[in-house]
Amino acid sequence: MINPMCKKNCASCFAKPACAVKALIEQADGIYVDTEKCIECGCCRKICGTYGFATIKPMRRHG
Ligand code: SF4
Ligand code: SF4
Repeated sequence: MINPMCKKNCASCFAKPACAVKALIEQADGIYVDTEKCIECGCCRKICGTYGFATIKPMRRHG
């Protein structure tokens, strides 16, 4: 599933390259997370405090 993460507050997202599994997708209207790829490592949150782990949490896969 592709979920919205951020409305792209920065001209160039610096959290995106921090994702080792390339789960963050940059589009014209925002940053999205591919929940199938995300391993919930939290690195993007450490890089960018604008969105927190609380944002990722509801996106977590179950099971
Ligand atoms: S996720 Fe963070 S670094 Fe990326 S565009 Fe949004 S505010 Fe900027
Ligand atoms: S939590 Fe980790 S795997 Fe998931 S989007 Fe952020 S950096 Fe990528």
